[in-house]
Amino acid sequence: MQKGELLYEGKAKKVYRTDDPGVYLVEYKDDATAFNGLKKGVISGKGELNNKISAHFFRLLEGKGIATHFVKQVGEREMLVRALEIIPVEVVVRNIAAGSLARRLGMDEGTALPRPVVEYYYKSDELGDPMINDDHIAVLNLATGEEMSAIKKVALSVNEILRSYLTPRNLELVDFKLEFGRHEGKILLGDEISPDTCRFWDTRTKEKLDKDRFRRDLGGVEEAYQEVWRRLVG
Ligand code: 5GP
Repeated sequence: MQKGELLYEGKAKKVYRTDDPGVYLVEYKDDATAFNGLKKGVISGKGELNNKISAHFFRLLEGKGIATHFVKQVGEREMLVRALEIIPVEVVVRNIAAGSLARRLGMDEGTALPRPVVEYYYKSDELGDPMINDDHIAVLNLATGEEMSAIKKVALSVNEILRSYLTPRNLELVDFKLEFGRHEGKILLGDEISPDTCRFWDTRTKEKLDKDRFRRDLGGVEEAYQEVWRRLVG
């Protein structure tokens, strides 16, 4: 598969055309940003680790019947994916209070939620990704009600599949962000599933093994991403 024209460069990934119009090549970068681009850095080895970790999770989910954009891993930091018409809604699922939920609701970080919480954010750098609800999504014409019910159902299934997989590996899935898109009339899970987009805590020590180490200047960022990979395949 030929790597063609650069279609899009985001904060953590580049997307290229290929010789198949229905398939794009995603290249994972070592660049890291946080707080809507205000904090910038480079985490050496991140691109390769996020590519491997995302490919691993996409294979796991496909095996459990979740339709994703993943086609195959083709290089250390590259994967082929189905071309999506991205729905500009970030879908966050939470099991434990952390980050913006802990701040917004005044909960202590680490408080277990009695049931998973699903939230939507409008993907807009200019607006700083504001939280939105089903009515906002309908008014902005971002997705149909039917699409959003399907997306919520898939997001909760992904949560169950990932939690069952991670618990015996001594990783707690605190929360994570998913993105979806349309491909040939179907909704597919897109983007990535990695320590950039999930909060993973060591079940016993509660040590953070994700991008919060970068966001909060905790150090040991690359080591944490490597530890997640080691626990997935070890
Ligand atoms: P929070 O709303 O607490 O900041 O984030 C909740 C979860 O979604 C975290 O796992 C976080 O990594 C993920 N998340 C939310 N928005 C973004 C985003 O714009 N970029 C990335 N990489 N992750 C996000």
